[in-house]
Amino acid sequence: MGETHIEAIRNLAYLLASVLFIFGLKGLTHPRTAVRGMQMGALGMFVAVLATVLGGGIVSWPWVVAGLLIGSVVGVLMALKIPMTDIPQMVALFNGFGGAASFLVAGSELVMRIAGGTAGADGQSVSQPSAYAAIPLQAMVPIAASGMIGSLTLFGSLIAASKLHEVSFEWRGEKVWMNDPLLLPGRHAITGVCFAACLVVCALVVTNPHTATWYWILIALAAVFGILITIPIGGADMPVVIALLNSYSGLAACATGFAINNNVLIIAGALVGASGLILTKIMCKAMNRSLANVMFATVGESAAAGPSEDEVYAGRIKSTSAEEVAMLFDGARRVVIVPGYGMAVSQAQHAVRDLANLLEARGTEVEFAIHPVAGRMPGHMNVLLAEADIPYDKLKEMDQINPTLETVDVALVIGANDVVNPVARSDPSSPIAGMPIIDVDKCRTVVVIKRSLSPGFAGIPNPLFAADNTLMFFSDGKKAFRELIAAVKES
Ligand code: NDP
Repeated sequence: MGETHIEAIRNLAYLLASVLFIFGLKGLTHPRTAVRGMQMGALGMFVAVLATVLGGGIVSWPWVVAGLLIGSVVGVLMALKIPMTDIPQMVALFNGFGGAASFLVAGSELVMRIAGGTAGADGQSVSQPSAYAAIPLQAMVPIAASGMIGSLTLFGSLIAASKLHEVSFEWRGEKVWMNDPLLLPGRHAITGVCFAACLVVCALVVTNPHTATWYWILIALAAVFGILITIPIGGADMPVVIALLNSYSGLAACATGFAINNNVLIIAGALVGASGLILTKIMCKAMNRSLANVMFATVGESAAAGPSEDEVYAGRIKSTSAEEVAMLFDGARRVVIVPGYGMAVSQAQHAVRDLANLLEARGTEVEFAIHPVAGRMPGHMNVLLAEADIPYDKLKEMDQINPTLETVDVALVIGANDVVNPVARSDPSSPIAGMPIIDVDKCRTVVVIKRSLSPGFAGIPNPLFAADNTLMFFSDGKKAFRELIAAVKES
């Protein structure tokens, strides 16, 4: 078969893969079609990989196979060892690895073109040995873009993953938590200078196609830039950063697609870039923040100035037990369960479903109030509750359920903290100020299930726990629900 035929077949396969990606994404927009969407996306990726591998242009099979084996072993080990609650960190790392892959491919394309070798996954070869003439502007611009975006995505994602993992280290005798915003003096100026330097070096990469030196300098500078823009962001703003980094990883892949002239990479990268941006917008809206505010506002400085735990809680906390809560259920017509990160930690979703079924069998109306940033990744609660086969129509979004909460007899909060913290409404200096919350404090009685009074991700006390209508049930989430089931059965 001639080279033109092979190329035509490969492009057709790429087109098919792109169509599968688009329908896959469409499927992911609803829980009912999500699994099929995932399968279509995976099939699309399989077709794309097959077309690339069989379509020629492979420089060295042993390297490809070695990479495949090492990647598969690391991937399988990570998937087996990492607990469900650490998946968000893993997603952040995957975004970063996507960025790294993009800038490494773009970098090797540059190095190969300079050497006058075979270029690109498409197998097109650069015939002229004269390097300068061989690399056109339309290849150099995406190479520089991929280098800058890919590197800032990798290093920004490493910081985001360490924040999500709540990594800490000692600095001058004090414990520093990555999760806290790290605010350098003059950080806006430093970040601005670093960004300007990146743009200047991008221009140097493009105008000096005979050397890869500027490219690697760009990688180093963009790495510093990625770190600088991520370290000041803390607490409740991490979901937006993750969505944004996801979008950047797509843009880097798209730029690499242009650099190596690979259509499916251009389309897949653009899809990831666009969907990441849409997700970023949705997350910003859910937190009532603008993107500029998330990226540049000095959140965290005010957190230290907020009231201490003692000021909020001292003498005001009322503990409860499973038997007492079962008695509350006896007179309840409407119960709302509000899950948060602690439900994921304790893997309580099946026990939650069993209690909901039990209450419904006794004639109580049970619903679930879902906050868009509850847990540690977008859709975290939906995934866990779907895993426990809780019907999707029982899951109510925040905007839908909030106006009706005054008629709720018992709100059962399991492992949620920031997303039910009324400080978001009342204290404009709080790190979660303006973030819409689930207004459980408006329910007749609130039962909060958590192990202690420790703060949530944003690191601030929660006056809900000290409210007159709140009872604290101190326990692991799953254990508490099992005790509640037993107590309801006995009552
Ligand atoms: P929070 O992080 O505010 O609080 C979780 C609570 O769960 C803690 O206070 C903890 O208290 C409790 N908990 C932990 N383990 C258990 C357990 N085994 N049993 C019972 N309770 C437990 O969670 P929310 O879901 O309310 O809020 C999510 C936060 O994470 C927001 O600030 C959000 O912005 C942020 N975030 C969200 C992301 C997303 O995309 N969804 C991504 C990154 C961050 P205790 O230790 O006392 O038990």
